[in-house]
Amino acid sequence: MFSPVSILVVTALSSILSILVLISLLSHAIAGVPRWLWANVLAIVSLVLFSVQNVAPAWLGIVAANQLLAATILLIYEGCNDFFDVRVRPAQRWTGWIMWFGVMAGIAYFTYVAPDVNVRVVIVSAFHAACDLAIAGRVLIERPKERPRYNYLFVAGAAALGALGHTVRGAIYVAKPPAHAALLEPGAMQIMFLALGILVLPSLCIGLVMMAHDRLAQRLERLARFDDLTGALSRKALLAAAAERLARARQDGEREFVAVVDIDHFKSVNDRYGHAAGDEVLRHFASIVRARIRENDAFGRIGGEEFCLFCTAERAEDITALVERLRKTVEATPCAVPGGVLHYTFSAGIAAWDRREPLTALMARADGLLYAAKVAGRNRVKAPAADALV
Ligand code: GH3
Ligand code: MG
Ligand code: MG
Repeated sequence: MFSPVSILVVTALSSILSILVLISLLSHAIAGVPRWLWANVLAIVSLVLFSVQNVAPAWLGIVAANQLLAATILLIYEGCNDFFDVRVRPAQRWTGWIMWFGVMAGIAYFTYVAPDVNVRVVIVSAFHAACDLAIAGRVLIERPKERPRYNYLFVAGAAALGALGHTVRGAIYVAKPPAHAALLEPGAMQIMFLALGILVLPSLCIGLVMMAHDRLAQRLERLARFDDLTGALSRKALLAAAAERLARARQDGEREFVAVVDIDHFKSVNDRYGHAAGDEVLRHFASIVRARIRENDAFGRIGGEEFCLFCTAERAEDITALVERLRKTVEATPCAVPGGVLHYTFSAGIAAWDRREPLTALMARADGLLYAAKVAGRNRVKAPAADALV
């Protein structure tokens, strides 16, 4: 029912499908995709050569076919390195291709000098098992831990299955080579390993496409979550985080504070140095703040040159001191912009959550104090008297 040639053809067709799907990802500039594409091109040529092995010369049906399939799996591995931005040293990068040349030399030797199909199978299986294992390991180690793991485990699982299949195949050919060893002789074992192959290569490619789609989802989520100019949380993400923080503080009995911060005379930065300089100031400010707050503080841009910082603290003095430190740092750290170096300042209003009021009311109180700081002359932090802070 399953002739080896039909299995090879179906696998080649699945590679054509993989190519068509991978092409759809090219415009998104996802690292790794070009190599995965080429891998499938080589796979198709290789599978066609395998299927004409009985009529083609040995250098084509055996040597070239095996080498192209070996290059396929190596390219998939290298594509994974690109995808995860793994910086491999040039020496490491060449190791795979040196092994690939070794496989070629081995296959040529055991085809022309001392023909032995069993040894050829062992050499090829060892190479594929090593590459599959490297893919599985790479994906497991590098997968982004904050992302849903299914897509990554799918790829690692497909690669591990490939590694297992090739290891078992190699071991069988070492221990007790079957009577019908040639690829296109329809022995039961050939069919079984080909069937495993038909499962592994397309599964691997489907999994790689799933990983690439997760990368796209990650990019979109990042765009929605972070302000792309400053890297601070977007307004929407900040308000969502703030609501969560208040809910948690209500449960845990912790004290939550907010500082609303606005850069002083920002319009005049734009007017004097241009909009690009204004953007640079916003980035500069956000990077100073981000470097000095704690990981569990929530810092976001709520509009224009206005930012918001939510902190959990024991005492109101803690957050006042933090914002005051930020004010002094900003005042003392000039910002290089196109057309000069400029000094700027900010004003801030701080409020403590009273455990009952809604988020909007809390922010409105901080905003009121920010306004007071502006009226009082700017470049200052206004917080209610310590005893007024709950
Ligand atoms: P104040 O000290 O009272 O806060 O004065 P200000 O000039 O900082 O405030 P104002 O509200 O008058 O001006 C804010 C300016 O911020 C106006 C707007 O063009 C500019 N702005 C808003 N968003 C951006 C941005 O993303 N990039 C740049 N460069 N400018 C922006
Ligand atoms: Mg301003
Ligand atoms: Mg403003």
